[in-house]
Amino acid sequence: MAKLKFATVWLAGCSGCHMSFLDLDEWLIDLAREVEVVYSPVGCDLKDYPEGVDVCLVEGAVANEENLELAYRVRQRTKMVISFGDCAVTANVPAMRNMLGDGDAGNAVLKRAYLELGDVTPQLPDEPGIVPPLLDQVLPLHQVIPVDLYLPGCPPPADRIRAAIEPLLHGNMPQMEGRAMLKFG
Ligand code: SF4
Repeated sequence: MAKLKFATVWLAGCSGCHMSFLDLDEWLIDLAREVEVVYSPVGCDLKDYPEGVDVCLVEGAVANEENLELAYRVRQRTKMVISFGDCAVTANVPAMRNMLGDGDAGNAVLKRAYLELGDVTPQLPDEPGIVPPLLDQVLPLHQVIPVDLYLPGCPPPADRIRAAIEPLLHGNMPQMEGRAMLKFG
């Protein structure tokens, strides 16, 4: 039987959700036997998100145009998109900058970081292709693309990640119910 094509993506997050994924420890070896990891910031060095992905964990909110482009590509090429962690589910910490401006928080945060707090030659980063333009507001993933499953937590604990993924390996949907599976924070 063909292995399930598995991916993880890192948008605007601290990578803590991926660190929690690595906390699956020896179960990662079992997982590696059952899936083909086709894209991930951990343990995989492919640059382009491939076609035909079965399951993708998406960490992080959508904060800039690069995040937005990748989120669209993930949705087009993936059967099951999992909103992975509180930043993806609610926008969480990255969305704190939304308070800095009314529809223009991207510019407000850039001015604060690079002009007001710039000690030496304060200037806005504007090199094309180096710093992706920030969106006006940071958005949770489901406000940008449809998602198939929510896996909350900051980060989701490893046993919750396993409980969400393991049924998928056998063609079943996980039971995302109760405090153990749904608690935020
Ligand atoms: S949900 Fe928490 S651990 Fe995950 S990326 Fe966001 S801040 Fe980091």
